Amino acid sequence: MSILDEMKAFIIRRRLLANMIPSDCSHPLEEWMAIKARMAFKQNKELKEHIGKKVLNEVTREDFDEYQIFRVREQMRYAEKNSPYYRNKFKDAMVRPEDINTWDDLEKIPFTEPADLAENSMYFFAVSRTKLRVEFTTTGTTGHRKTIGYTTNDIVSKIDIVASALKNIGMKDRDTLHIMFPLVTAWDPSLIMAGACRILGYGFSICSEMDVEKQYEMIKNSKTTYIIGLPSFIYRITFLMRENKNLKQLGIKKIISTSEPLSESMRNNLEDAWGCKVIDVWGMTEFGLACAVECDEQDGMHTDEANMLFEIIDPNTGKHVPDGHTGELVITSLNAECTVLIRYRTHDMVSMIAPPCKCGMHFNRKLSKPSGRMDLQFKIGMGHKVYPALFDECMFADRSVIDYRIKITKEQYKDVLTLEIETNKPSDELKTKIIDAVSHIMEIEQGIKEDLIDAPRVEFVDVGATKYAAKMSKIVDLRKNFDN
Ligand SMILES: [Zn+2]
Repeated sequence: MSILDEMKAFIIRRRLLANMIPSDCSHPLEEWMAIKARMAFKQNKELKEHIGKKVLNEVTREDFDEYQIFRVREQMRYAEKNSPYYRNKFKDAMVRPEDINTWDDLEKIPFTEPADLAENSMYFFAVSRTKLRVEFTTTGTTGHRKTIGYTTNDIVSKIDIVASALKNIGMKDRDTLHIMFPLVTAWDPSLIMAGACRILGYGFSICSEMDVEKQYEMIKNSKTTYIIGLPSFIYRITFLMRENKNLKQLGIKKIISTSEPLSESMRNNLEDAWGCKVIDVWGMTEFGLACAVECDEQDGMHTDEANMLFEIIDPNTGKHVPDGHTGELVITSLNAECTVLIRYRTHDMVSMIAPPCKCGMHFNRKLSKPSGRMDLQFKIGMGHKVYPALFDECMFADRSVIDYRIKITKEQYKDVLTLEIETNKPSDELKTKIIDAVSHIMEIEQGIKEDLIDAPRVEFVDVGATKYAAKMSKIVDLRKNFDN
């Protein structure tokens, strides 16, 4: 039996919660979280006492806060018992699960750094390796390789959130999902997506081909209504396909972008090409594919608060910052069985948006779009921080640009940005347009004024000249002996 068949049999026995969401529900994702909270409430005396209600029908934000703090205590108890890393960490910090009763109490728990996970992956494991269904090592963009393990229950909860997210995005019976990820060496996201479709009874097709004709034929023949995948991959294929095909005729209802940042110009160009909305889904290798999901409002991402607790902290003081303020995102897993992560620093800068949302969700908190990972930032000029997301808007504003890379070098005292533009329509006009747009990015403009950054340069490369690689670093720092 394949992993998928085995999962399917297991899930049917266990009943996926995503299948319990009423079909007429207007906001399935939040309903799925409420189902989880109500189930825990029914089964647990400790939670009942904290919430102070006899029954839990309508779940309020306050109720959900209590539910999450309760899950943190449970996850800590589990980690203290089973994960050697956390057993020691809690002991050293002299913190016990019982000490955590309010949101403020979370600050008593020490942070976990990605470097800790990279160096001690096996000490995080809370189950023996023989019980693992999947074990993989991340490729990552920052050099730290982390090993993550999933038990069957871990995989089921990841399929469950993806299934709920697909429902929330609008998928229904008779819809078909076309899954587009380039071939990757680590754990293949297509398996989770396909698993979710099987359980929900939706059709699906998987295609990792760079070949435009093959992608087009498969989308058409499998009667695709939704597309999900890596945005840089979808963007590339879309760009090449639209040259001689009318993509709007395919009748795609929505495109779902995941696992990589989606810039607004990329989104606009994709929406224009396919004639449908593009929905952004944010995930992290450490926590899964759908940690946060946009609704039709396209204004912030609804967080998976049933599997994760999201905190925003000031990266310098480590203290919580209020909703609406930008800070570093810190995540705690609430029901992980193998790789438990408690107060894990993501190094992503975001802010939280308080409920309600216009889509109808009333207690779920939304995440603003991550603005750039702190560990992917480069300092140029007088210490101005630049990161890939900063450049996406001006690069993809012109539809003929399919991808780009930025090389940073140093000439005498000045930083030089060379923009390598992949296009099949190079022109002086395009060159001027890009240089002009990049020169007006606040951080660059300032550096040019201070005479520490030279005017940006453009180099054109043919489409396909640079081999496409998923998660390829967009900025390459070639400065030597420079204190970054
Ligand atoms: Zn919403």
